[in-house]
Amino acid sequence: MSGLKTIKQFFAVPDDPNLVQAQARAFTRQVPLMYGILLVNSLALAATHDSAPDLLRLYIPGLLTLICVLRIMFWLRTRNQATSDAKARRMLSSTVYISAVLGVGFSTWALSLYRYGGPFQQSHIAFYMGITSIGCVFCLMHLRAAATLVALCVVIPFTAFFVVTGNPVFGALALNLILVVGGLMSILFGNYRDFAELIASRSEMERKQRQTQSLSDENDRLANVDSMTGLPNRRWFDRHLEAALALAEAEGRQIAVARLDLDSFKSVNDIFGQITGDRVLVEVAQRINALRRPSTMVARLGNDNFALILVEMTTEAALQSCGDVLTAAMRPSFDTKLGIVHLSASAGFAASKPGDTADTLYDRADYVTWVAKREARGRAMVFSECHAAELSRVRRMEHALRTADLDSEIHIVFQPQFDVALNRISGYEVLARWRSPLLGDVSPVDFIPMAERMGMISKITQTVLGKALTVSAKLPRSLRLSVNLSAHDLASTTTIEAIVALVGKFGKPCRIDFEINETAVMRDLEQASDGLIALLALGSRIALDDFGTGHSSLTHVQKLPLDRIKVDRSFVKEVITDPTSRAIVKTTVDLCRNLGISCVFEGIETEEQLDVLLGLGGTVMQGYLFGRPMSEEAMFEQLSTQHKGWHFQRSQMFGAAS
Ligand code: C2E
Ligand code: MG
Ligand code: MG
Repeated sequence: MSGLKTIKQFFAVPDDPNLVQAQARAFTRQVPLMYGILLVNSLALAATHDSAPDLLRLYIPGLLTLICVLRIMFWLRTRNQATSDAKARRMLSSTVYISAVLGVGFSTWALSLYRYGGPFQQSHIAFYMGITSIGCVFCLMHLRAAATLVALCVVIPFTAFFVVTGNPVFGALALNLILVVGGLMSILFGNYRDFAELIASRSEMERKQRQTQSLSDENDRLANVDSMTGLPNRRWFDRHLEAALALAEAEGRQIAVARLDLDSFKSVNDIFGQITGDRVLVEVAQRINALRRPSTMVARLGNDNFALILVEMTTEAALQSCGDVLTAAMRPSFDTKLGIVHLSASAGFAASKPGDTADTLYDRADYVTWVAKREARGRAMVFSECHAAELSRVRRMEHALRTADLDSEIHIVFQPQFDVALNRISGYEVLARWRSPLLGDVSPVDFIPMAERMGMISKITQTVLGKALTVSAKLPRSLRLSVNLSAHDLASTTTIEAIVALVGKFGKPCRIDFEINETAVMRDLEQASDGLIALLALGSRIALDDFGTGHSSLTHVQKLPLDRIKVDRSFVKEVITDPTSRAIVKTTVDLCRNLGISCVFEGIETEEQLDVLLGLGGTVMQGYLFGRPMSEEAMFEQLSTQHKGWHFQRSQMFGAAS
């Protein structure tokens, strides 16, 4: 039973679809060749037997020729065509059967010609059968079953027939054929095994390759997707922006890039925690996605920054209205498990220009987003010509700052702070000035935020502090200098450590105070407290600068180790005309009194302002009325004047705020 099964299996078409396909492919080239050999050889045999009856000489060869030609055409037609596994299998199965039938048919026909010829013709028959069978077996080598059947269907009748003739030469020929075909078959079996193994290993290799490819596709997908929101990420955005720009350029079209930044998103994380923050970001992504056109691409660049590539809308009006829709979509509250979150987003749009690169286009969108954040928080702005001039100025400034020799280009000026209770100047605020050899004088209002953006603020702070420390050593002991710190300084432990080390170098007592603004405090209350404690340990005092302009709550103020609050000059400016400003100033003075800290007023320019502030209980005053920011020499000059009996007599002391 198992022997039968083995034989059946031997003559069956293999199971492996890859092997079947490879065999079918090989056959499309080899089988037509086999039929060609068979046909030519058979016609030659028919031609040498002109004394045979027409049936054997004409009709049977004619029929066999027809079969051969049809088979040649069949195989030639399938050449270079994709064939299904099932069809390839059917083609091979039919080849196995047809090989057996044709083997028997041609052998019977050839042997039936034997008695119609002389010794030469008979030898031709033996030669024809032997050589043709070898040729056919060779052509069928890729399908073991077909090759074996052809060999058997020729060699068996050949041997039986010629042995029966009793002719020893033919007997020897039969023996030769058995040996040659036997040897040939054993080589063919070996080759067939190698062929099957080759195909199997190639299939395995292809499978592994496909697996590797799908893994790399998956990696590629993951590398291009922001896993939290499911939106494409920065990498994807960069690649697609370049491609979209190149295509638009080739087609003479424009595209636009938009940046959308959430305003004060950090406070969402601080108040509600990271998980809620993440949920809000996911919903932000959904809101943007729901509004975008199918051709618009959206990506999350990181944190609370999103970007869009718009290929349809590029006019200023269309971009502005798109921006208005997007920013409006961020205003409805986000309902989270921990509470309701209110957000706003600022957006910047820029349309491409001929010759743009992805970087220059993105740079414009980035810049106008930054402008929107400063000047139109919660709204969208489109990059226009006036931004272009400003942007190139900013980039020139950035370049100059990046290459600046801070020590020689940054200098400090001093603005007096007058203590009403002591009736004398109690200290000076240190203000940075940058004189660039390329740009001339640049205001700190421009270069400080720029240095913050460029990550250079810590260097500037240290330069200013170093210079202030040198001056403080020369000042009378009763005077203190206030150095401004940026929010970034307070957020960086490295910077705080550097400040502590720098102050430490100058020895005690430290007569430097620090001014921090509300943004610094709000960014990370805990981190800010740690930084402040380190500064307090130096013997410094801390002032909260520009009070009233940021978002700090009174609870935060209470929690921080502050020594003074500096009321922003915007309130001072309106203290005469605006009752609300007056009320705010009064509340702040009361707050300071309750907290036991001093209150400093900034930006006092007129005597009227001073009168009102004194009436409200102000103690320390700063502003042009008391002195503009001045050089070190001017400061010492002012101090020496004060020394020589300088008292709080307004008319003598303070000139007009010129
Ligand atoms: P600030 O710390 O609030 O400094 C006070 C600013 O108000 C100074 O402007 C000063 O010149 C100006 N000011 C003082 N009195 C009056 C007045 O009566 N009227 C008017 N209109 N203005 C007055 P400045 O020097 O241009 O500095 C602007 C801002 O730049 C500073 O505001 C501070 O935030 C920042 N800054 C300046 N120097 C430094 C520094 O060394 N480090 C850091 N981080 N920021 C600095
Ligand atoms: Mg200040
Ligand atoms: Mg201030």
